[in-house]
Amino acid sequence: MLEPVVEIEQQVTFKQEQLQTLFTVLQKRGYQLVGPTIRDGAITYDELNSTADLPVGWTDEQEAGYYRLARRKDAAYFGYVVGPHSWKKFLYPPVLSLWKANLQKGEVIVAPQAAQAPKYALIGVRSCELHAIAIQDKIFLQGEYTDPVYKARRENAFIVAVNCVTTGGTCFCVSMKTGPKATSGFDLALTEVIDGKRHYFVAESGSKQGAEVLAELTKQQVTAEEQQAAKDLMEKAAKKMGRQLDTTGIYELLYRNVECARWEDIAGRCLTCTNCTMVCPTCFCMTVLDTTDLTGQNAERKRHWDSCFTLDFSYIHGGSIRNSPKSRYRQWMTHKLAAWQDQFGTSGCVGCGRCITWCPVGIDITEEARAIRAGDKSDKATKAI
Ligand code: SF4
Ligand code: SF4
Repeated sequence: MLEPVVEIEQQVTFKQEQLQTLFTVLQKRGYQLVGPTIRDGAITYDELNSTADLPVGWTDEQEAGYYRLARRKDAAYFGYVVGPHSWKKFLYPPVLSLWKANLQKGEVIVAPQAAQAPKYALIGVRSCELHAIAIQDKIFLQGEYTDPVYKARRENAFIVAVNCVTTGGTCFCVSMKTGPKATSGFDLALTEVIDGKRHYFVAESGSKQGAEVLAELTKQQVTAEEQQAAKDLMEKAAKKMGRQLDTTGIYELLYRNVECARWEDIAGRCLTCTNCTMVCPTCFCMTVLDTTDLTGQNAERKRHWDSCFTLDFSYIHGGSIRNSPKSRYRQWMTHKLAAWQDQFGTSGCVGCGRCITWCPVGIDITEEARAIRAGDKSDKATKAI
């Protein structure tokens, strides 16, 4: 799905101790590190000060509606999959103040909120997440309108990708052709290898900045054995996907099944809680809220993430046009896997599995697609994603 941006440079290896040097090099270049850390019983993305903040020796167990942390037998830094957060929280903030206004001597003074874009180094970005960022790039940067906040944050970002050698119970990136190996869209890509007593990273740069940062580390030329070890781990991960989604003809399948009985069945389970859209790395719906304080002197306009699962989201004069859980789930899933292709020329799903794990009632997009396919009466021509 991603187009290669630059030629990927030759691989090198560095010892695990050098990961802290990498962090320090990025900090000296003015980056605020953000990445995986344990909070509230989950691996979330937050500010990092050093490698001690990483979830060292922890992994995550995931199933539909189920997430638990568990201890690993080793001290892997990136031995987990993906958690409830995605990188959109840094590039497309959940709440953004657009302007503030106040009343001064009978005059309304409006002040646009032009906050300076932070300079983030995103640490530990998975291949499916690189694809999700590329999808949001299409939406916010390559369409008719550019989102200036996203643009500034995106241009400032340095991306350290980590190839997946562990897969989760709800992952299906292989079905979506989005992983487990990062192929483009990063500044640096690392594969963590723990092989007996050796703990090292196979690294490659994907940009000029990435090559400059890599040059500051103590590293060695990769050996054929190390290269093979990294390759074997990724191949093993690809074979252990927790889920699969048959994307053959999924576009036509969903469009011709807008009235199938399965939507009612899902509606009987769906709580319209919005979790699936909040955790999804590609969902980007938002709303704008205006507020005033009790004195009537101060007002503010804020942009908030929103969800197509709320009744208000499709409210137009006279009422909501998607007033049932059935219509809202159908809209979401059909948009993700079909209408997104009409709008943006790509699937809206990268197979990260978050919507399955974080659905409180365990609704599984891969299972629902399978059920719709099983009940499909038509054998019309198909179109793969
Ligand atoms: S599918 Fe699950 S996560 Fe999404 S709105 Fe329904 S209950 Fe919530
Ligand atoms: S629809 Fe679900 S599996 Fe697909 S990208 Fe969004 S959260 Fe991940």
